[in-house]
Amino acid sequence: MPPVIGYDIPMSTIFSKIIAREIPAQIVYEDDLCLAFRDIHAQAPVHILVIPKKEIPRLAAATTADEPLLGHLVLTARQIAEKEGLLESGFRIVINSGPDGGETVPHLHVHLLGGRPMAWPPG
Ligand code: 5GP
Repeated sequence: MPPVIGYDIPMSTIFSKIIAREIPAQIVYEDDLCLAFRDIHAQAPVHILVIPKKEIPRLAAATTADEPLLGHLVLTARQIAEKEGLLESGFRIVINSGPDGGETVPHLHVHLLGGRPMAWPPG
């Protein structure tokens, strides 16, 4: 087995506090496995974060056991994109993992971005 990066680090990030309702957020969706809320520094007209309730620090720390959960996060992002009216115009999902990925909060999250054309390559 490869080392599991970051899995042993005890976490209590701002996202755990949002899950626990200890700090407010504009929540748009919740189920047993995940929570989705609007990003506080929106980079597009629609910018929503979909996070697992399980405290996985980042994609680099995910294991095969997380496969159903990761699929659930992506399909939840797709459901929210539909609710936000983005299916036809299009949207982007992003997962930043680690320093070079641009990760700033060590609680795995899927960015859902839409409502404007996205550039490529990303910065
Ligand atoms: P990352 O850079 O780790 O991929 O994404 C973290 C995201 O979390 C950033 O887009 C940032 O704006 C967002 N964020 C950080 N703190 C908060 C917060 O307290 N509330 C909300 N709604 N978003 C946050």
